[in-house]
Order: sequence, then structure tokens, then C-alpha cells
Amino acid sequence: DDVRKMPAYTGRMNRASDRVRVILLNSALGPLDYRVPEGMHAEPGSIVMAPLGPRKLPGVVWEADRFPTEEIDFKRLRPLREVRDGVGISAPLRRLVEWTADYYLASPAAVLRMVLSSGAAFADDRPIVEYRLNGMVPDRMTPQREQALAALAGEQGTVSELANIADVSVAVVRGLEKAGALDRIEVPVFATTDLPDPDHGKIDLNEDQARVGSVLIEAVRQRAYKTYLLDGVTGSGKTEVYFEAIAEALRQDRQTLVLLPEIALTEPFLDRFRTRFGAEPVAWHSGLKQSERKKNWRALAEGQAKVVVGARSALFLPYRDLGLIIVDEAHEVSFKQEDGVRYHARDVAVMRGLNEQIPVVLASATPAIESRHQVEQGNYELLELPARFGAASLPDVEALDLTSDIPPRGSWLAPTLVRALEDNLGKGEQSLLFLNRRGFAPLTLCRTCGHRINCPNCTAWMVEHRLTRRLACHHCGHVMPQPEKCPECEDEDSLVACGPGVERICDEVKALFPEARTAIVTSDTIWSPAKAGEFVAKMEAGAIDIVVGTQLVTKGYHFPNLTLVGVVDADIGLEGGDLRAAERSFQQIAQVAGRAGRASKPGHVYVQTRMPDAPVIQAIINNDRDGFYAAEIASRRAAAAPPFARLAAIIVSSEDNSEAMETARLIGQTAPSAEGFAVFGPAPAPLAMLRGRHRHRLLIHAHRSVELQKLVREWLEDLEWPRAVRVGVDVDPYSF
Ligand code: ADP
Ligand code: ZN
Repeated sequence: DDVRKMPAYTGRMNRASDRVRVILLNSALGPLDYRVPEGMHAEPGSIVMAPLGPRKLPGVVWEADRFPTEEIDFKRLRPLREVRDGVGISAPLRRLVEWTADYYLASPAAVLRMVLSSGAAFADDRPIVEYRLNGMVPDRMTPQREQALAALAGEQGTVSELANIADVSVAVVRGLEKAGALDRIEVPVFATTDLPDPDHGKIDLNEDQARVGSVLIEAVRQRAYKTYLLDGVTGSGKTEVYFEAIAEALRQDRQTLVLLPEIALTEPFLDRFRTRFGAEPVAWHSGLKQSERKKNWRALAEGQAKVVVGARSALFLPYRDLGLIIVDEAHEVSFKQEDGVRYHARDVAVMRGLNEQIPVVLASATPAIESRHQVEQGNYELLELPARFGAASLPDVEALDLTSDIPPRGSWLAPTLVRALEDNLGKGEQSLLFLNRRGFAPLTLCRTCGHRINCPNCTAWMVEHRLTRRLACHHCGHVMPQPEKCPECEDEDSLVACGPGVERICDEVKALFPEARTAIVTSDTIWSPAKAGEFVAKMEAGAIDIVVGTQLVTKGYHFPNLTLVGVVDADIGLEGGDLRAAERSFQQIAQVAGRAGRASKPGHVYVQTRMPDAPVIQAIINNDRDGFYAAEIASRRAAAAPPFARLAAIIVSSEDNSEAMETARLIGQTAPSAEGFAVFGPAPAPLAMLRGRHRHRLLIHAHRSVELQKLVREWLEDLEWPRAVRVGVDVDPYSF
């Protein structure tokens, strides 16, 4: 059933499918050949266990029969050990794995690991053993046991999951179990999910929505590939419209995958989905427990799970019969994976749609330049929802010039914004202040000697987190207690916090309005879907007056009583000036502005800036998306920047700086020369040191007609470098 072109079968062969070529998941080796023992059935796509040395490793049969087989004598091949019944990796998905590995210069095994999801595929029918507290207190108590008993109230999980939650060793949890304080629960790996009902909470679409909805419904019926850019302002009903496409997929008994940019968004999405379809979809993200992971993998691979909502890794799962892919908030940066296989989930989603011959919907209120360009090229179909639903209108946006509307010393909110917050509090409506900086202050500086506190592992400042009274590096996670005196000149009382983070803004709000109920929303406070759920419930119950948050609050949320938004510093995003700075700022401010006035009450947005005349700010104030996009696309074209050309970065890193530099120089010296292919560098990477590794970078600029991956692969293949040096390629890098 493999549709790739195979060499014609000519040689003498053993019986068909006796010999198979297998990609092993956990091996750096290429595909290996095995023998299929008597009585076992294995074909391309079969999930198998195969021997390697003394071990038994999981893998997938990639080819059978028809490949050149002269290298190893059949009799010397080792036999496969096991094959998994009932579930396999389809030909379109195998092609996607190959394409992804090829395009992003990764190994097929690394991509395949995402398909089989850390062993979830090899679950047998044995239940997973979990534990939870039973209220018994052991006779012998230790500080660790105390800590675990306090932390584990209401929790259930495997021994290692519980140890993680309680921040104690596995031995402590085992000890509690032996002492009789834990109940043992066997969780079956079978899924018994309620089926979503396409007609459960059906709503009437307005005219624009109905027009777009019927296009998508027809697309699902057609069972053919096509990518749609669902471009509608915030609150226009994009979700309601793509729900209609999901309803159609349900009627056709086919599966839908919905990709979301943040796992924090899955919880509100599950609620909303339940309201519409009467049952929950299956979730897929890094926060799942082992038992959920196995259960959900199985449900989607066997086809019981009809709708899966997940983070980018859900893209590679082996759905039994996928009929539709939705990428919501498709412009989001977080769809680009920055370690391991460096892929862009939005782009791979389109490729999966093509392989599976199914429609793909990219939904966004602020589409990426790349996506708009695809529409202009005639590759994607544009579906527009120009107006907010119902009585809601887009909020008024006003710039506050910080050079004339000056905040008092030591504060960050302009007098006009403070008055607006006061008004809004008086009316009993909710407000949101947006600043894309976690913590209290981004920099701690010594007034006496000028020393700045840096991370020991990264080229980055340590960020003060006053709530936890620590300094933290936002790149490697290194933390230290807040120092009492300057580590350099040892002067006491000389350290000052410079610049604001969300915690500092929240302090300012509390000082101004002691009676206001505030909440900080960042990945420090909302670290799980459950926490996101709590926040949403509080907002909906009106238990919060003013939210101070990072980009985490700019996405997806719908709070009818939220009518005022203040962007604390619109200029941050424009610093650094990389290619996407303007686009990213525009998207971020437009998205956060889109949280205001989403229902019948009108919204108002204040944007604090020192550059009120900058094109980005002007475009936001005048709601001139089309003008902004046209100008951006023109400037990209003029600069021969993506999407009009292609970029790739080669990152060379090592704990030893001279080793990294030497390797980067060697790679630079051996760069191929080809028409339309230019290599710049090496130069220190933007984060010159990260997690203790020194990083050097080469940047490749190529015409669209150049076979970039092929050139890079052949170039690096022949080179050797010290074992401790890592060389990674980032194709279509996001920031540079
Ligand atoms: P978007 O995804 O474009 O931001 P949503 O789908 O979240 O927009 O819609 C915004 C709000 O309006 C939601 O509360 C949604 O339920 C409501 N809404 C949109 N369309 C309709 C409709 N046709 N009937 C009733 N409510 C609707
Ligand atoms: Zn660091």
C-alpha cells in the first residue's frame, strides 16, 4: 500500500514480506533489515519490537519486499519479536514523516518518536497502576512524608507522577505506599468516551458566518485537500464557524484534529466544545498523565476518539481516519518548535492535509504574512468574517504618548489610563493590563558599581520575581535567592530593580486602587490547564476586577464584562528590530485589544507608546490591517526576505567556546557555492551562551528555486567535528 515509487522488483527474493526494513525509534542507526518469523504478519506501517544487540527496541516497518536487498544474507537476519495488532502507521503518515525529516533535516526516527509518543503505542491491555491518598497517616513521619501528604491531597497518578507533584523522591512515595497511606487504583487503557453529537447545541449562524460555514462543510464532504485561511476579526465567530465543519466531519464519521497554540487554552476550549457537542473531545498535550496518554493514543489510533484537541505534537499522531485539520490562532509563534525536530506545526499541518487529501483550516484574526502571501499566490482560499458577532463592535483604540502623558516618577501607568481604570472599576466592569514581561523587574543593577546581575549559564539578565523572592533566568530556568548586597562590590542596599514586569505593574495597581481585586496571569501563575480553568471561572464569576498579564492573556479568551485594555509598553516588541518585529507587535497588540468589548458593552483600548507615529501604532489605531499587511509584504519583497526567499540557520554549540568557534569556522569555510545560495557568518548567535553552551551561528539565504536542504545535507555530511560539539539546523527560523 506504499504509494512512493519503489524500485521495480527484479532480484531473487524469499517469499513476499519475509524481509522488512525497519526504522527503530531509539537508535541513531539508519533503517535495519529484519526477518519476519513464521506465523507473524508484518507489512509497511506495522508497529514492531525488533532486536538490536542484547536489547529489544520499538520501531516501524518502513518497507517490505521491494527494496534492494543484496547487502545482508537473508539467513543472517534476526527475526522480529512482536507486532502490534490492529493499529499501524498509514502510508500518508509515513510520507509525512519522511517529508518532515527531509524538510527540517532531522532523522526519521526523531519524527517517528512523535508519532508513537514515548511508548504510548506499545501499551498492552494491562491497566496502568495509579495511587492516591486514603487518609491513613503512617506511624513514622518524616519531613518528606509530611510534604508529600500535604501536596498529594486530591491527586492521583503513578508513583513517579506523584513524586513529581510533591517534589519528593520516588522512594518517599513508595515508602508511603508500603506504610499503607496510598490506595492502589488500576486504570484501564481502554477509552470509553462519549461521542460528540453534531446537533447537540446547534446555533444559528448569521449571514457572513453561514456563507463561510457552508464552504467549509462542502470542503469536508469533498474529501480533498485544500487550505483555507479563515480570517476574521476577534469575536467574529471563527470558532462557531469551524465547529460547523467539525459537525460535518462527525456526521461523516471522520476524525478532526484541532491544534491550539498553548496547552493553557485547552481547558476553556474543552468547556466550549462540550456546550456545543455535548461531550468532550480528547486532549493531547505535554501535561497529560501516562494513563491518559496511553488511553488517548489508543482511542485516536483505533478511531473511537472523533475529535482531538492538542498542542503541536498532536499533529503527528496516527489517526485512524482523519477528515479535517483546524489550526486555531494560526499566526502564533508557539507553533514553531525550537528544540529537537525544529518544525513549524502550521506548515506541517498543511502538508499533512495534502498527504491525507483533507481540508485544512488556518484560523486567525491576525494571519501571518506568510499565510496572506499564500492566499495572494492562489495556494490558499481566503474566507473572511469582517465584523464582530451581534451587537459587539470592535473597540476604540487610542494611543497614549508617554512623552506628554507622563506617568509619575517610579510608576508606569499614564494619568489618562489610571483615570480610565478608575472609571471602569466604578462601573463594575473588568480591565486588563498587558505587558509581555514576567516577574517584577527585568534587570537588577548596582547603583554603586553599575554591576548587572547576569545568568551564569546564559547571555541574559536574571529577572527579579518578587512573589517568590528569587531571581530567575527565563532561558535556562536558573534561580538564585535575591541577593542582599551587590555580588561585585559588596555594597549593601545598592541593588535596584530596573524596569517593570507584570508583578510590578500589579503592585502599582494595588497602590492606586487598594479595593480592586487583581490577578496576575503569566506562565508562573497559570502553569496547567486546570489553573487556566480556575482563572476563567473567576473572571466569569466577576471575582476579578483588573488582570495584569503577559501574552498568555492575549489568546482566545472571551470575557463579556472585560471592557478596558491597557497596553503598558507597545514599544517593547519593536526593539531588537528583527525581520518580524513589526508583524509580531501588530499581532500582539491587535490580539490583546481584541479582548475588550467582546459582547454588548463597548470596549476601549489605550496603547502606551513613545512613538505614536510609528506605522505599527498607526495601523492599530486606525484598524488598518490591510494597509499594514500591504506595507509589510512590500518591504519583505524589497529586502528579498521570507516569504520571497528562504532562510536557514546552522547553530554550532559546545561548552567549550573555542571548540564551537573552530567547528563553526570549519563549516563556514566549506560552504558550497551555488547560484542563489549565500552563507553569512559564523558569528555569535543572538543568545551567545545558552544553558552553559556557547553558540555560534551561520545564516543561509537562498532563492526559492534553490534546493536548500539538499545542499545543506551534502555539505554537513562530509564534515567531522568533536563529539562534544552539537550542530543543529533550523530551517525557516522564526527569529534571527
Ligand atoms: P472568534 O473565534 O472569531 O474570536 P467566537 O467564535 O469566539 O469568535 O465568537 C465570539 C462570541 O460570539 C462567542 O461567545 C460566540 O459563542 C458568540 N457567537 C458567535 N457567533 C454566534 C452565533 N451565530 N450565535 C450565537 N453566538 C455567537
Ligand atoms: Zn540562564
